[in-house]
This record gives sequence, structure tokens and C-alpha cells, in this order.
Amino acid sequence: MGLYIGPSCRLCRREGMKLFLKGIKCETAKCQVERRQRSLAPGMHRWQRSRASEYGVRLREKQKVKRYYGLLERQFMKYFRKAERLKGNTGENLLQLLESRLDNVVYKLNFAPSRKAARQLICHGHVCINGRKNDVSDYIVKIGDKITLKGSEKSTKKVKHQLESNPNFTTQGWLQLDREKPEAIIVALPGRADVQIPVEEQLVVELCSR
Ligand code: ZN
Repeated sequence: MGLYIGPSCRLCRREGMKLFLKGIKCETAKCQVERRQRSLAPGMHRWQRSRASEYGVRLREKQKVKRYYGLLERQFMKYFRKAERLKGNTGENLLQLLESRLDNVVYKLNFAPSRKAARQLICHGHVCINGRKNDVSDYIVKIGDKITLKGSEKSTKKVKHQLESNPNFTTQGWLQLDREKPEAIIVALPGRADVQIPVEEQLVVELCSR
């Protein structure tokens, strides 16, 4: 699976918003969106940018969503095509699919400080679904799925430490978290209101539809 390995907060600057790709880094001065030249795109030719075209606006919107969930183009388009085939609004279907990815769920449960860290926790085999090890971070959760840790002292300690470092954190209504064990149950599918990135998904649909 491909992965963007460049400086995370360069992407924040490009999208003009904090993407929290590295968790708390975005809350520090290191996040380039905070820098003096924040209104400019990264790179050498940023002065030469003209006003964004209609295409440009749609493209930025797509790139923003893609990067927020840590996906490359091909993976993103896989979700888009799937969203198109489902009943209902394609844009909302797309966001629901992306929110339902296991790495996003693990991040939103505050088991890890970022989606990237969540992905690592999953890939290293620390996460179980319904009692069985699942090391696939693009697993799409279903209602009733129970998410637990492998039970090894190492994984439990790591996650508990993360939960304790953030005592005021609350989970969204579709996730039922037991902080003590720790484990969680998916009690509903994520709705549009659970998506925290400001995005006009219709623009993404207009760009990607053929
Ligand atoms: Zn940042």
C-alpha cells in the first residue's frame, strides 16, 4: 500500500487548514499553516498562482479529503466508485465509507494520536475485531463490530497511555468506548455530522463523476 512520506504539515499549508496528519504536531508552531506565508502554496512558484479555476477548486476539495484520510489517488477512487454504486447521496456515502475505515475508527476512539499512528497499531497486529486479529487498516467497520486489543501488555499499555493523556476526550455517538478495558463497539454507522473536516463533498462528486 502506498503512503505519502513527505513533511505532513506541508500538506496542511497546501490545503490551508490543519489536517492533523501527525496528531499534536498541528497544534504546535511547526504546523506550516501557522507560518507567515500561510496564504501561499508550498514550493518555488507559489507567487505565480493565479485565481483557482472551477476545476482547481474541485481538485483542492478532493485532495483535502484524500490527504485527511491518508489515501493515495487509486485507493480514494476505489471508495468513490463504491460510493457511486450505493443507494443515496454519493458524497455522503463516500464520507461514510471513509469514516468507517478501521484506521479512522481507531483514531477517533483515541487509541492513537493520529490516523497514521492508528494504521501502524493495526498493521502491527494489535487490534482485534470480534475477537480475531485484524491487521488490515482499510477494513470497513459494521454495526455490532467489537474492537478490542490483542491483549498483550505492550499494546494495552500503549493505548491506555494515549487515553490517559487525553482525559477530556469524548467519542462520537456511533462509537461506544469502554476506557477501562479498553474496547469499543460500533453502535451506528457514522453520519454526515460526524465528519470533522469542513468539506463540500458535492464538489468532489462533480470532479470524480464521469
Ligand atoms: Zn499541520
